[in-house]
Amino acid sequence: MDKVIIVGTGVFGLSTADHLHQKWPTTRLSIVSRPSPLAPSDDISKIVRVDYNNVERMTEAVEAQKQWNSDRFSRYQRSIGRVVIYEQDDVASVQKINEAREELGLQSRALGGSTLMWDKFGTTTAPEPLTYVSAGDDSIVDWEPCISDARERAKNACTKSGGTFYESGVASLVNDGTRVTSLILENGKKIEAGSAQIVLAVGPWFTQLLAASDIALPPDGRTPVATGLFSYGVQMSEEQTEFFRDRPMISHHGQGDFLPPAHGCVGKITWVEPFTNLHGSTLSRVEDLSNSALAKYHMHKTIEWAREFLPALQGAYIASVRSYWDGVTPTQDPLIARHPQFPNLTCVVGGSYNRAKDLPTIGSTVVDVLSGRPVPDRYSWEPKREYSHRDQPHLVAGGDFADMEKEAQEKLASIVNHSSLGVI
Ligand SMILES: Cc1cc2nc3c(=O)[nH]c(=O)nc-3n(C[C@H](O)[C@H](O)[C@H](O)COP(=O)(O)OP(=O)(O)OC[C@H]3O[C@@H](n4cnc5c(N)ncnc54)[C@H](O)[C@@H]3O)c2cc1C
Repeated sequence: MDKVIIVGTGVFGLSTADHLHQKWPTTRLSIVSRPSPLAPSDDISKIVRVDYNNVERMTEAVEAQKQWNSDRFSRYQRSIGRVVIYEQDDVASVQKINEAREELGLQSRALGGSTLMWDKFGTTTAPEPLTYVSAGDDSIVDWEPCISDARERAKNACTKSGGTFYESGVASLVNDGTRVTSLILENGKKIEAGSAQIVLAVGPWFTQLLAASDIALPPDGRTPVATGLFSYGVQMSEEQTEFFRDRPMISHHGQGDFLPPAHGCVGKITWVEPFTNLHGSTLSRVEDLSNSALAKYHMHKTIEWAREFLPALQGAYIASVRSYWDGVTPTQDPLIARHPQFPNLTCVVGGSYNRAKDLPTIGSTVVDVLSGRPVPDRYSWEPKREYSHRDQPHLVAGGDFADMEKEAQEKLASIVNHSSLGVI
C-alpha cells in the first residue's frame, strides 16, 4: 500500500491511523482533519462497558477493554463501575446480556432493587419497581486528553511517513466513474487522490458528504442515519466531585446517563431520547440544535431525573448544553467496507452510539479491509446474511426533530418554572 488518505479524526479515523502506521510505517499517510463540537468523538468522558446481548459484539468489547488496560491507554481510564437501571419491559435484555457474558466465561450480573442506589450513593428516592444492576467491571475514560493524544500521534505518523496532515474538511469527493480522483477541501485546496486509498471516516456526516459528491449510498439496511441527542455538562461543587469521584456511573435505559467528572468538577448527563433531523427530506443531517426548545425540555427532564435518582447532586447546575450526533445503522453494526463502485474508497462509519470504546482496536479491521482480508460479514456493504440484532434499541431515533420540537414548545409553555437556571 503506497498512499492512504484518512478523512476524519474521530474514533474510526484515529484508530485506523494508529493501526495502519504500526503495520505499514512506510505507507505515505495523509489525514484530513476537521474536528467538530457536534461529533461524538469530541466529548469529555466515555464509558467502556462490557454488556452486549450478542456474543460477537461482547467479544469485541472484551478485547477493547483489555486494550484499555494496556500501557498506551490505561492512563486515561478508571474502573469505577456502573449502575444500570432497566425499566420492567427491558429486563429480558439483562438476561440476554448474562447469557452472552456466561458464554465468554464472564461473571453474570445480579438483578437487584433500589437498595443498590442506597449502597452506592446513600440515595433513598430511587423508585422501587425498576431493576438495578451493578456493572462493576465498567470504566470511565477521561476522553479529551485521550483523543487529543491520538490526534497528535496521527499527525506524527503523517510527518514520519512523508504525508500531510490537512487541517480542513473535505467539501466533496471527485470521481471519474471508476475511482475517486481528488478531494476538494473546504479551504478550496484540491488533493490528488487517484493513486491513493481513501478511508472515509466522517461519522454522522457520511450521507451528507456522499450526497454532496453524487456518490451512491449503501443499501437502506446499511446506511448510518445521523441521529442526535443532547448532553449536559453538570458543574459540581468540590464536595460533590469528591463524593462522586470513585462512585459508579449510572445508565438508566432510555432516560439519563450520568458520568461523574473524569477530571475537574464537570460531570455529564446525556438524555437518551434520540431523533433524526430530516427537514422533510430522506437524509437526516447534523446540525447544532443546542438552542432549541427540545434541548431545553430535555434539560428539564434531565434535572427532574437527577433530582430523583441522584439527590446528592442537589445544587449542581447545568453549565453547558451540547447537541451531539452519531451515525446509527439499523443493526447498530458499523459499516467498514469498500464502496462497490469505487475500489479506492473505504467507508468506515456508523458508530451507532457504542464505538468509542473501540478506539484501541477497530482500526485493525479497517487495515484488514485495505489488505483484502476477510472481516465480519455484518460490517459489509451488503451482508450475505440478514441480521436483526440491535444492541441498544433505545439509541435508535424515536422521532424527527421538527415534530419533537413542536411538542417541546407546547410542553415548555405548560411548565411554569421550567428550570431556566438549570439548577438540580
Ligand atoms: C453523547 C455521546 C456519548 C457516547 N458515549 C459513548 C460511550 O460512553 N462509550 C462508547 O463506546 N461509545 C459512546 N458513544 C459513541 C461513540 O462516541 C461514537 O460511536 C464514535 O465516537 C463514532 O466515531 P466516528 O469516528 O464514527 O465519528 P466522529 O466522532 O463524528 O468522527 C468523524 C470526524 O470527522 C469529521 N468530519 C466530518 N465531516 C468531515 C469532512 N467533510 N471532512 C473532514 N472531516 C470531517 C468530524 O468533525 C469528526 O471529527 C457516544 C456518542 C455520543 C454522541
